[in-house]
Amino acid sequence: RAKEQGRNTYQFYTDGMQEREVMRLELEKDLSHALANNEFVLHYQPQLNLNSGEITSVEALIRWQHPRRGLLAPGEFIPLAEESGRITDIGHWVVMAACRQLAAWKDTRFGKLNVAVNLSGRELDDEDLVDRIRDALDAEGIPAARLEVELTEEIFIQNIEHNLDQLSRLHDLGVNLAIDDFGVGYSSLAYLKDFPVDLLKIDRSFITDVTERHDDAVIIRAVINLAHNLGLRVVAEGVETQAQLDFLKDQGCNLVQGYLISRPIPAQELEKALASGALEQGATADSG
Ligand code: C2E
Ligand code: MG
Ligand code: MG
Ligand code: MG
Repeated sequence: RAKEQGRNTYQFYTDGMQEREVMRLELEKDLSHALANNEFVLHYQPQLNLNSGEITSVEALIRWQHPRRGLLAPGEFIPLAEESGRITDIGHWVVMAACRQLAAWKDTRFGKLNVAVNLSGRELDDEDLVDRIRDALDAEGIPAARLEVELTEEIFIQNIEHNLDQLSRLHDLGVNLAIDDFGVGYSSLAYLKDFPVDLLKIDRSFITDVTERHDDAVIIRAVINLAHNLGLRVVAEGVETQAQLDFLKDQGCNLVQGYLISRPIPAQELEKALASGALEQGATADSG
């Protein structure tokens, strides 16, 4: 009986594996046409500056408008794109799209926004990355300081010398560099001395329970102090409640990003929300 069950379980497991594998292969095939078919879009999530009470930057987050599966989140295809190496071209598209958006906002009331893009470690392998980013900025006439690049701590674990060289060149251009998901990687803090970092983004997992958990509050306070003493600005990710925002404001956190302010939304929707003033007011409604 046990043996039979074991076999059934095994059978079930392999079927599931096969299904996943088929789906993966199909997605991988679709991914090879996605750029040419213009199926990617950027959504933008605003970051509220706690000093000015204004939205001063937005993070560009990629989505895939899949012809049959609907709008896919990056978690469903970015890992695949990294494995296949397609991430290089997708990342280049992201940078160009972000620069085009910055150009479209130039000379409008949104002309002061900075845009942050995400790069995975794999994208740093591309020797042409920095030239491509510079060309994209030049083509649209965008000052480099308007662009932020977010990277996770994985880049401090492997290929450190190469990555340091790439990021130094990027920083020399004037692009701002942010460490994304700070605090959950397995890297040492020593890289903060050597790498030209401008911003730390505290991972959402520290924010979620900050108003209930003393240890999270202690960690956040320490990270903000560390960052400020190193001359870095701090962004808190995943802020969903006014109580979290109030705590972060008290601690001197510079920027907050999260569903409390807004979900990631298409550019047009963002423009409407910004124009209505709803984003600023919503965020400070409770504190006056
Ligand atoms: P990330 O850069 O840390 O982006 C933040 C993620 O948290 C986004 O998920 C965002 O929608 C979500 N989020 C924001 N505020 C809240 C909140 O208040 N509560 C909760 N529960 N979630 C919140 P998304 O868009 O699914 O992106 C996931 C990850 O995919 C990103 O994490 C980033 O690492 C990666 N990614 C996104 N766009 C790109 C891209 O263009 N290129 C690359 N290489 N990676 C990207
Ligand atoms: Mg990010
Ligand atoms: Mg993050
Ligand atoms: Mg992340």
